[in-house]
Amino acid sequence: MDADCRIRVLSDLLVKKIAAGEVVERPASVVKELLENAIDAGAMRIVVTIEEGGRQLIKITDDGCGMSAEELGLAVTPHATSKIKTEDDLFAISTMGFRGEALASISSIARLRMVSRARGSEEGHEIRVTADQIEASQAAGSPVGTTIEVRDLFFNVPARRKFLRAQSTEMGHITEQFSRVALSNPGIAFELSHNGRKTQRLASCDSPLARVAKLYSPELADALLPIRRDEHGVILEAYVAPPAQSRATTNWQYTFVNGRYIRDRSIQHAIKEAYRGLTEPNRHGVVFLFLRVDPQSFDVNVHPTKIEVRWADSRLIHSQVLSALRETFQRSDLAPALRTDRAHAPVSEAEQDRVRQEMATMMRDATPIQPGQPRFDSLGVNTGHADGLTNQRGGGAMEPQRVWRELYSDPVRSDPTADGFSPYNKVSPVLPRSSGTTRRAIQMHNLYLVAETEEGILIVDQHALHERVIYEQLRTRITNGSLESQRLLLPETIRVTARQASLLESNGDWLQRLGIEVSTFGSDSVAVQSFPSLLKDTDVVPFMTDLLDRLAQQSAETSPDVVINDLLSMMACKAAVKAGDSLTVEEIDALFEHRDLVEKSSSCPHGRPTMLRLSKADLNRQFHRT
Ligand code: ADP
Ligand code: MG
Repeated sequence: MDADCRIRVLSDLLVKKIAAGEVVERPASVVKELLENAIDAGAMRIVVTIEEGGRQLIKITDDGCGMSAEELGLAVTPHATSKIKTEDDLFAISTMGFRGEALASISSIARLRMVSRARGSEEGHEIRVTADQIEASQAAGSPVGTTIEVRDLFFNVPARRKFLRAQSTEMGHITEQFSRVALSNPGIAFELSHNGRKTQRLASCDSPLARVAKLYSPELADALLPIRRDEHGVILEAYVAPPAQSRATTNWQYTFVNGRYIRDRSIQHAIKEAYRGLTEPNRHGVVFLFLRVDPQSFDVNVHPTKIEVRWADSRLIHSQVLSALRETFQRSDLAPALRTDRAHAPVSEAEQDRVRQEMATMMRDATPIQPGQPRFDSLGVNTGHADGLTNQRGGGAMEPQRVWRELYSDPVRSDPTADGFSPYNKVSPVLPRSSGTTRRAIQMHNLYLVAETEEGILIVDQHALHERVIYEQLRTRITNGSLESQRLLLPETIRVTARQASLLESNGDWLQRLGIEVSTFGSDSVAVQSFPSLLKDTDVVPFMTDLLDRLAQQSAETSPDVVINDLLSMMACKAAVKAGDSLTVEEIDALFEHRDLVEKSSSCPHGRPTMLRLSKADLNRQFHRT
């Protein structure tokens, strides 16, 4: 046997580094672990100081129980913990930590300094640990409590150091971890500063709602509906936004169990269910959910970072969350919010849904199933969040004509050789210009375009098709330069978090090409100076809110092309005609000319069908003509 193939026991340092690989992904992970330790120590005040996005320094000071000289040494030893003793304890965890791994791991990949004074002790002690080397502890002046400094994170792990992002990005992640801990511990005072500037100062308060106001915005906190319920051993406290204020992503759903931020599929599902029918299908509720349950009713020892738990009875949790939210929505008078939003929608959302359902059922039932052959060619496009029901918040229903003119009267556009699209203005109102295989389409229910084709009947979702057309055009334009943009007479200011500000900064180039120009304005606001001409009827603030949510969802590794596609499809969705918009004959014709765009995109992994085809053979069979 080759000597190199022998099994060997790894060095202690290597074992710790491997453990660190699981727990410490980036500076924010260190912040999370240290904050949790401070909370477990019973701190009432926690101060977090960051330098250079955490790469240079992460320092956390607490006024908790502190550690003796001996405990300081043990704290950095792997699997040393004061939080559990026996196996039984493992199934009734009431502290944030229990693995005894974080400090040992961190000390293997950074320069760690800890100063602590135990409650009741006369003096404090200090130790320094770097990559396994512990310096003997020495007496040090310190108030009761603990200060932990982590410098030069990943100094001996080049692979991880290489993946650290811009300071502002790392700070964004740190702020997110900080916010989660602050939300679930309103009684504790927190401070956060970055590069000498204080970014958060949170006084002790008695409700997470006050934290929401401070961390995000007072407007958001004002809008939230409080929920409280205690049933079957599940104590639930929640703050949820009315459905009308839903967001483009699930990033605004915070779930905590016994103070721990978790991600949980059954809870996510319950939230989705509660909002079903009250928001458009691709919008997501804003929810801050705090559950208190018997620590024995779930297992946190599932994931090294403890972000997931395993429930003894996940159905109970699901039903408690679902019914609490549902009852709240039923009780609250949500109608006014919906009415303002849809003041101009000629068809109610429920009605549109019903019609769509009926239409789908009708089409499905129309043809007997042919084995091995799909009943219809239902073609999807990547509709992203397209659903045809997107609101024009506050701005009133968009007049489709205006959008069309905007698109088709562009000088680039009106050059028929520029690309395959003919200018809308030149479409004959009388004769269909297309190849002759399709006769004129008609609009039904202000929602579907139905046309006779050589092969049978074609039914297209008007929003999906228009969205696709706009998307393709935007794509062509953006490859040749940037989108036409309009300076706003009055710049719109938006409140942003540190993370959002950094997202705008790091995506500035792309946004500019999309016609969006943003400048910073104070420490927690930005001003939108220019906005795409195409979106001149769209409200700036809600659009930007969606955009920020989407940017936040992209990871640092997402390629710019993916980001830009996401933003373009979002713009296309906003600019496209909606379900419920009545179209003129000319518009229908012009739109239907591009139906092949939808026809060609044969696969859509998560979209819904955008087109149905009913063949003559299907019809004949249905009427027993064969
Ligand atoms: P765990 O939190 O899982 O026990 P850690 O490695 O995070 O593991 O911490 C090891 C031990 O160090 C803890 O169990 C606790 O006794 C002690 N400790 C860590 N941080 C603090 C702190 N801020 N104040 C008091 N004790 C602490
Ligand atoms: Mg810990």
